Amino acid sequence: MTPLEVIERKRDGGAVPATDLREFVLSYAKGDLPDYQMSAFLMAGYLQGFSRGEIGALTEAMVASGRRLDLSSIDGPTVDKHSTGGVADGTTLVVAPLAAVLGMRMLKLSGRGLGHTGGTLDKLESIPGFRVERSAEELLDQVERIGLAVAAQSADLVPADKSIYALRDVTGTVASTALIASSVMSKKLAGGASNILLDVKAGSGAFMKDAMAAVDLARLCVDLGTAAGRRTAAVVSDMAQPLGDLIGNAVEVREAVEILRGERRGRLLDLCLTLTAQLAVLAGVASSAEAGREAARRALASGDALERFRAFVAAQGGDAAVVDDLSMLPTAPVSRVIEAPVDGWLAAVDAAAVGQVAAALGAGRQRIDHQIDPAVAVELSVKIGDRVSAGDPIGGVAARDEQAAEQAAERLLGALRWSDRSVPPPPLVYRVVSR
Ligand code: URA
Repeated sequence: MTPLEVIERKRDGGAVPATDLREFVLSYAKGDLPDYQMSAFLMAGYLQGFSRGEIGALTEAMVASGRRLDLSSIDGPTVDKHSTGGVADGTTLVVAPLAAVLGMRMLKLSGRGLGHTGGTLDKLESIPGFRVERSAEELLDQVERIGLAVAAQSADLVPADKSIYALRDVTGTVASTALIASSVMSKKLAGGASNILLDVKAGSGAFMKDAMAAVDLARLCVDLGTAAGRRTAAVVSDMAQPLGDLIGNAVEVREAVEILRGERRGRLLDLCLTLTAQLAVLAGVASSAEAGREAARRALASGDALERFRAFVAAQGGDAAVVDDLSMLPTAPVSRVIEAPVDGWLAAVDAAAVGQVAAALGAGRQRIDHQIDPAVAVELSVKIGDRVSAGDPIGGVAARDEQAAEQAAERLLGALRWSDRSVPPPPLVYRVVSR
C-alpha cells in the first residue's frame, strides 16, 4: 500500500496489514515520510483505534527502527522497570538497588522530566558529579560489577518513538492506549531485559485518570511483552496524589536515601517493596510476592540496599559521600511552610497541578531543551484521608525568591480539596496484571 492508502484505510476503520504498517513506520524513521502524513495517520488511529495485531506490528516496527541492547553477556536475570509517569515517583532510586541486592541485574534507560512529571535522570544529576551519559559497554560492565546502572536512552534506540512521540505531543494524539503501549513497550523491548515490570499509574497525576483505563493499558503492555518472548507483568498503582512527600530533583534523591537508610516510611516505600517483590517473582529469585517483599525488607534493614546505592553513585562518577551527608545536595534559598487552611480531612489532590507547581519553580521543563533547577522543591506531607487541624504544617516550598515562593504556596493550597467528613485513602495498588 502507498502511504496515502495506509492513511485512508485507517481513517475508514479498515485493517492495515502488518507489512504495510512496518514500512510506514520505518519510512518515517528514515525521514522518507513527511510529518504531515504521519500526523494524519496518528489522528486516524487515535479516532478509529488499532487492532491488537496492528499494535504488535507498530511496536515491532518501532523497535526495528534502531539499535537493540544485547544483555546476553550478563550473568543473572536481567530486569527492567518502567513507570508511565507521575509526581513524586522516585521508585527507581529505591527499587534498582533493592533488585540488585536480591540478585537481579537492572540496566535501566530513563528519560527526563516533561510537563508535570519528574524524570529519573534529572533527579540523579542533582548528585554532584553524577553522569547519566554512558556507552553501552560501560553500562554492561557496571551491571556485571554491581548489578545496576541507570543512564540516558541513546538517540539510536527506538528513534521512531522519539519522533512519533514529539508529533503526538503537538497533534493531540498522546492519550491513546494503543499508542502509549507501543511507545512504552518498544523502548523496553529494545532495552533487552528478559523480565519487564510496568508501573502503570492511574489518577489525577497520570496519563490515565481512571483505574480501569490504566488496567487496559497494563494488559496491553503485558500482552506485547509476552508476545515478544519477555516475562512481563504490570502493577496498576495510585497517582491520585503525589506518591512520596517531596517533589523536585535533589529532594527526591533525599527522600530515596532516607528510605534506604530506614528513616522514612509511607506510600513510596510501600510501592517500592511491592515493585521489587513483583520483579523478584518475574525474575525467579523469589517464590512468591510475599517472599520477595520479605527479602526486600531484609535488604533495607541490613543496610545492603543503601550500600548498593552508594556503589551505584560512585560507579557513575557521583560523590557517594552524599549518602551520609544529604546537605551536599543543592538547596534553594527561600523556604515557606504551608499550613492546613481548615479543620477536616484531605479529600482530593490535583496531583498534576502539584507537579506543575514544582515545575513552575524550576524543577521541571515545559520543553525538552529547558534547563532545570535541581534545588527547588515542593513538600506535601499529608495524604488523602489524613485529618488535619487548621494551622497544622502540611508541607512547604523551596524557591529562588520570595515572589516565586509566595505564588507556589498559593497554587499548592489551590490543588487541595478538603472535606468536613472522614475520607478513605485510595488503594495504593489497584491491580497486578500478569500472564
Ligand atoms: N510514556 C511513554 O514512553 N510513551 C507514551 O506514549 C506515554 C508515556
